[in-house]
Amino acid sequence: MGSGWESLTLVLLAPIFFICMVLEYRLLRKRGDNDYSLKELLCNFSLAGLHQASDIIATLLLMPFFLWLYQFRVFDISLTPLSIIIVFILQDFFYYWFHRASHHVHWLWASHISHHSSERMNFTTAFRQSLTYPLSGMWLFWTPLMLLGYPPTFVVVVVALNLGFQFFVHTRMVGKLGWVEHIFNTPSHHRVHHARNPEYIDRNFAGVLIVWDKLFGTFVEERNDIKIDYGIPHAVNSWNPFVATFHQWRTLFRLALSPTKTPLSKRMAYLFGSPKISDDAIKDHSPINTMNKN
Ligand SMILES: [Zn+2]
Ligand SMILES: [Zn+2]
Repeated sequence: MGSGWESLTLVLLAPIFFICMVLEYRLLRKRGDNDYSLKELLCNFSLAGLHQASDIIATLLLMPFFLWLYQFRVFDISLTPLSIIIVFILQDFFYYWFHRASHHVHWLWASHISHHSSERMNFTTAFRQSLTYPLSGMWLFWTPLMLLGYPPTFVVVVVALNLGFQFFVHTRMVGKLGWVEHIFNTPSHHRVHHARNPEYIDRNFAGVLIVWDKLFGTFVEERNDIKIDYGIPHAVNSWNPFVATFHQWRTLFRLALSPTKTPLSKRMAYLFGSPKISDDAIKDHSPINTMNKN
């Protein structure tokens, strides 16, 4: 089944991930800039494990639906070098829109926030994934590829390889990479993505190709004169993987299901509108603001 291949893809990449982390740790220590912490490392690895487990279960449950959908495919695509290159580009295009939506739709942000809640940036940050992505409906973004005619089992492997590539952009160790910066997502571009500085926030949503950000107006270049501040505007301050996974869902449901008299349109905005709407609602009801109003 697809889930097996998907996990195998990431397991095969694991030794490379491990070597990169050891090299990064040694180099950061050597230059007196080590941001590795055992507590965060354990939290990040737990998040990766939980994400993998939920992904396997979700793919097993969803595969019958994917195969049903595949019956209605527009083309019968056989896997040739050209069709494989095309599916990698197309999946990366859909990844860009999934990722951009994940920052602008609260229902998706509730999952994606755990990737951003670390205030450090090293290879282990890449392991911060959420077990709730299937609930948010990440898989919906890959269904057009199946309808187009790519076999579902192959699509899930392409998704895993895209995720595998993204491990390498989570580092402060690598500077700018010349011509590569024009085409691919790089550590420099992705550092910008993890920043909460006003100049950088909600930019560079690329998975593999940075060209999507350039085409759709979300690209910002990393500048030497801005010191990056990593993380989310309201820090979580917890090493507990379950807090990292569920804290935003708690906020989302608390607002959407609030017993106070709230119009349905507002409740829908808490669920599917910009996360900023929910942030503002919390600020308006925070004890400090209530005190100021009284
Ligand atoms: Zn993001
Ligand atoms: Zn990232």
